[in-house]
Amino acid sequence: MFHSGLIPGYDFFVEKKVVAIIGGGFSGTLVAYHLTCLALSDLEIKIFDEKGRFARGVAYGTGDKNHLLNVPAERMSAIPDEPLHFVNWLKEKNFWDPKKTFYPRMYFGDYLFEFFRKSQVKTFCEKVIKIRHTVSDKLIIETSLGNSLEVDVVVLATGNYFSSQFLGLSELSDGARYLRFSEDNNITSFRPSTKVAILGSGLSAIDAILSLRERGVRTEVCVFSRRGRFPLSHDKNSRKGGNSLFLNESSPLDCLRYFQSCRKLVFARRFDWRQEVERFRPFSNSIWMNWNPRQKAQFHRHLRKFWEIHRHRMPPEIAESINKMVANGEVRIRAVRNLQIKIRNSKFRLMYLDGRKGLDVEEDFDLVIDCTGFENDFSKINDPLIQSILKHLLVSMDSTKMGLDFEGEGRVVNKRKSKIYCIGPLRRGKLFESTAVPELRVQAKNLALELASILKYESSNERAVPSFFGMSMEGGNG
Ligand SMILES: Cc1cc2nc3c(=O)[nH]c(=O)nc-3n(C[C@H](O)[C@H](O)[C@H](O)COP(=O)(O)OP(=O)(O)OC[C@H]3O[C@@H](n4cnc5c(N)ncnc54)[C@H](O)[C@@H]3O)c2cc1C
Repeated sequence: MFHSGLIPGYDFFVEKKVVAIIGGGFSGTLVAYHLTCLALSDLEIKIFDEKGRFARGVAYGTGDKNHLLNVPAERMSAIPDEPLHFVNWLKEKNFWDPKKTFYPRMYFGDYLFEFFRKSQVKTFCEKVIKIRHTVSDKLIIETSLGNSLEVDVVVLATGNYFSSQFLGLSELSDGARYLRFSEDNNITSFRPSTKVAILGSGLSAIDAILSLRERGVRTEVCVFSRRGRFPLSHDKNSRKGGNSLFLNESSPLDCLRYFQSCRKLVFARRFDWRQEVERFRPFSNSIWMNWNPRQKAQFHRHLRKFWEIHRHRMPPEIAESINKMVANGEVRIRAVRNLQIKIRNSKFRLMYLDGRKGLDVEEDFDLVIDCTGFENDFSKINDPLIQSILKHLLVSMDSTKMGLDFEGEGRVVNKRKSKIYCIGPLRRGKLFESTAVPELRVQAKNLALELASILKYESSNERAVPSFFGMSMEGGNG
């Protein structure tokens, strides 16, 4: 560190290093927190979030207590080396109940917000739309409000990008309403008789159904997806896995065969398949990295959806209430093909081929809730920042096109060796699992350590310019 007082009467003029974190959700907040803990006195951290949802982000910004974490509280600590950190926080706030496993996501958002308050960061509620180089190899970030800032390092923590498959519907709506769930959870203003179609049947669709019921919408809710299947349920006892029998050389076909043999054992009631999914998880990234692009594409085409309903599961209490709603006809789930949506008489008309009955069907709805989730193909992401950094070769896509190409602790690969890092869902493609808290908390800590080491290394190499009474001796001082 450079401080006055090393040589009496002299100061060492050293500019503060600036790290800009773009995205203030879980990943961005945790990087800022760990950097603050490292107490680098010549470092300034600036964090940008277009929605101003600092700490909570998309996942933990929900205001609905029915939206539960899908991971048991004991595995949700934000600090890698303190596994019970979140549980202790729940206890401290008197939220802890030994009979409960899955807690409201809004509690987790409050927990994260406490970290955020402790980090000494400057916040900006602005959307970053562009990054460019300066001649001195610094970076300039530009925001949609016309502001720009020169920085030394950029951390891209922008999370997932919503699929824009049905985005055109927001312009079509003429009385009927379209909303993209998770991004806009505002379903307070609907009449109990509103006829609702939900597109997609993953965990966001489950959240949407729970919110509709909570807000008193009583009509049948119709859920449309390609396979017509909800995520499966967690085990009530949520047991932890031991060692998996998987080898890193396993191909997609080996994996399928292995899980098929597990199914036989499950039917013979020898063990719970969920345990095997948990056992597999620590190995999934290394197995994925050993697959070639053709095998990765094969997995995506044939197995991804099947894997996801087993891997991203519902808490058992939620599964129970959804199953009840399906059984009594309050919720209908359809496997559909060739879905098209038009406006007819101020309603959305859905036209589709019913996959099970093989019939063409037309139905009208007042409200379409888009829960189709996130875009997996980076070349289709409709966002100015991503489009600009790809176009100007500041970043490149990995071979699967599902994320950015990076090395080490997230440094993006580019010819100019810019100090741009990525974290979280942006690392998907090269990594298989880069979505949930258990992996993101480790990424955040390691990235902060890497930044500390490169910035300190650079500081100690920097030319110290002596100054006298605060005036630089180089080039005069005006
Ligand atoms: C609904 C949901 C529930 C989940 N539940 C769980 C769970 O129970 N357990 C678990 O382990 N994981 C869960 N996850 C997964 C995981 O924890 C989250 O995806 C994680 O919070 C991702 O954090 P992030 O910071 O990378 O992204 P985000 O939380 O998406 O944050 C990114 C932020 O960047 C901002 N941003 C984007 N672009 C720009 C820009 N150009 N300029 C400025 N700001 C920008 C966005 O506004 C956003 O606030 C869930 C995910 C979702 C979506």
